[in-house]
Amino acid sequence: MNRKYRKTVIAGNWKMNMTASEIKPFIEQLKENMPKTRACDVVLCTPAVMIPAMIKAGKEVKVAAGGQDVSKYEKGAYTGEVSATQLADIGTKYCIVGHSERRQYHGEDDMLVNAKARALLEKGIAPIICVGESLEQREAGVTMEYVAYQVKAALNGIDATQLRRCIIAYEPIWAIGTGKTATSEQAQEVCEGIRAVIRKIYGARPARAVSILYGGSMNAKNAAELLAQPDIDGGLIGGASLKPVDFATIIAASNQ
Ligand code: PEP
Repeated sequence: MNRKYRKTVIAGNWKMNMTASEIKPFIEQLKENMPKTRACDVVLCTPAVMIPAMIKAGKEVKVAAGGQDVSKYEKGAYTGEVSATQLADIGTKYCIVGHSERRQYHGEDDMLVNAKARALLEKGIAPIICVGESLEQREAGVTMEYVAYQVKAALNGIDATQLRRCIIAYEPIWAIGTGKTATSEQAQEVCEGIRAVIRKIYGARPARAVSILYGGSMNAKNAAELLAQPDIDGGLIGGASLKPVDFATIIAASNQ
């Protein structure tokens, strides 16, 4: 982390778990275990139907609500989709785009991820743009080339002012939901590489100001070491964000 230049963000990704009625008790437990002061922004990304309940319950403890996906279209005959306008209208502040599960199960490519990020930015929602390599790509030694391509493609057409609202989440696919965390050196190396890619496009100042998160089996035990890396500005947390005590411990670890 480098708080002098950028925000620390601890974001949970609940995926398709929990229900709206479980949010209030979750937040109460989170509150009981949360550090009194904290130096990070906290976000919980839920299924779209649960966002209003998260906004309501999260207010008191300053936990923002985020979505997990958005349509690239503004409105129209796109059954089942949720637009950026609709997310903004209910008060959504953040939204994940390009999560590897969307890429894998819904065939989302980098151009679509870019269109979704731009749709969110137009409505004032901060996109949490996920990138990351597969195990095969890591073993083939092409991690940085692949991730650099994903970052460049996702940021295509996004200007420096809009970049300020963007958050990048480096999530090696082999570490998501597997219990296999990248070592802090591996995670730092790629996050530093991502910042270098952004520096090449936008220059030193904008690159210095972008928050880059690590995601992939981050938990209460390994968070402190990962968050101590200079280019890791927070975490995108799946499994551990469903456990209020563990999530609070990760928030506390970001206080270091
Ligand atoms: C995620 O879904 O973005 C994620 C990082 O999951 P987990 O923490 O469970 O690996």
